[in-house]
Amino acid sequence: MRPPSTTSTPALRIALPNKGRLAQDTRDLFADAGLEVRAASDRALTASLGGEFEAIFVRAQDIPELVSDGAADVGVTGLDLIEESGRLVEARLDLGFGRCRLAVAAREESGFSGIDALGDGTRVATTFPRITERYFREVGKPIEIVPISGAAEIAPHLGIADVIVDLVSTGSTLRVNGLREVETIMTSTAHLVVSAGRGSWDAGKRRALDELGTALESVIAARNQRYLMANVPRARLEEVRQVIPGINGPTVIDILDGGAHVAVHAVVPAASIYRTIARLKALGGEGILVTRIERLMR
Ligand code: AMP
Repeated sequence: MRPPSTTSTPALRIALPNKGRLAQDTRDLFADAGLEVRAASDRALTASLGGEFEAIFVRAQDIPELVSDGAADVGVTGLDLIEESGRLVEARLDLGFGRCRLAVAAREESGFSGIDALGDGTRVATTFPRITERYFREVGKPIEIVPISGAAEIAPHLGIADVIVDLVSTGSTLRVNGLREVETIMTSTAHLVVSAGRGSWDAGKRRALDELGTALESVIAARNQRYLMANVPRARLEEVRQVIPGINGPTVIDILDGGAHVAVHAVVPAASIYRTIARLKALGGEGILVTRIERLMR
């Protein structure tokens, strides 16, 4: 019998951002999903992710094109870049990081309170000409696009534009440049994108995509949840159930203390964990333990 081949061609080629805001979060997510980047060096352009997955490292803005052309099967990039590319790709999974908004911003002293205040022919500097053009067309306001490739924030101060359309995360870049947000055009997060032409993929590739999607989804779902364990008085179980409904109701386990207490286990939202703990304590909860979850499949 022949041993299984160890040099099979990768089933799925995945385009990942090589630098910028999305690069590290993407690597962390893939590592959490068991797909650690195994690169020969920090500057390697390709790397094995283990199993049937191969990564190629490219600029986030090139990823929609590479995926739509079939040079990569799937990719990770921002929703803003997908929209701006105009490429036919499917945003399959919201990865939750790289959150920002594409916004119209004007000089503090301009007095613009909303886009209604902008006159026809307003000059708009942006690195997102496609989204900007579409947005102003849809709201029925004729503008002039000033396409730029670098920092848009300087354009109103140089007099080459009246307002800008740019990405905003914390808003501090706008503030330090004397600009104020006037309107949000879209919000964006990193997404897993897949070629719209995947209908012609073979079964192996489709299975690999499903496995990748499930692995990433389970890690993302787990990030917002915690696993909580507590000992509570048996007599308060109904009230405890209101506090920690869990996925199908809390797990209840006997404790060998004569029956006065039971242990309850449940998956609970991380965002409200402090309130949950306080409410359990008020019900007589003791020995409360909270742990992170690696993966969660509902
Ligand atoms: P901030 O000062 O936090 O509002 O960040 C604004 C600057 O960071 C702008 O120059 C944006 O182009 C850039 N930026 C913010 N969020 C993102 C993102 N998710 N992806 C890429 N660039 C971003």
